[in-house]
Amino acid sequence: MKNDFAADNLDVQAFAQAGATVQGEAPLRKFPRLLEETTGEGADRPVHWTAVGEQRTVGGAPQAWLHLEGHTLLSMTCQRCLEPVDMPLSFERSFRFVADEAAAEAEDDLVEEDLLVTSRDFPLRELVEDECLMALPVVPHHEVCPIDVPLSVADPDFEAANAEKPHPFAALAHMRPGEKKSL
Ligand SMILES: [Zn+2]
Repeated sequence: MKNDFAADNLDVQAFAQAGATVQGEAPLRKFPRLLEETTGEGADRPVHWTAVGEQRTVGGAPQAWLHLEGHTLLSMTCQRCLEPVDMPLSFERSFRFVADEAAAEAEDDLVEEDLLVTSRDFPLRELVEDECLMALPVVPHHEVCPIDVPLSVADPDFEAANAEKPHPFAALAHMRPGEKKSL
C-alpha cells in the first residue's frame, strides 16, 4: 500500500479512515527534548514507532483513533554509580481525536482515553517524543553496577549544581549561630 502519511504532518482524519499503519524511525538527535534527558551519547540511535489509525463509529458518529507505540534505548546516568547506563524505553498508548480544544476540555474528565485535537498536519513525531518523555525511567540504574561505588565518585554537573546552593545545614548554622555546637 502506498504510504502517504508523514510523521511531521499527519492528516489525522484520512489516516484513521484508511485504517493505515505508519512505521517510522528517526535518530535520537531529532528529538531534542528527549536527547536532553540523556548523557548526550547515542544521538544516532534510532527511536522507533508504529502508529495505527482506526475509525470507530459511536452513536452514528465517526471517531478517529490513533494507536501509538514506540521504543528506543537511551544512554542515561546511573543514579547509583554515576556511570552511563543504557536504559530501554517503550510506551504504548491510544488516543481519540476531537474537533477542537474546547471539546477536548469538555470531555476530558468524562472519558478514560487520551484526547487530542484533530489536525490535517498533526506533528506525530512530537507526540512520540512526548510519550517517550513520560515513559522515562525515574531512577535509571544498572542492574549490577560495573564498578564499586566509592562515595568519592562525583559527577561534575552534580557538583556544579551543588556549589550554587548553600548547604542547608550551613544556612541553618548561619541563622542560628547560638545553637551551633562543635562536635
Ligand atoms: Zn551503576
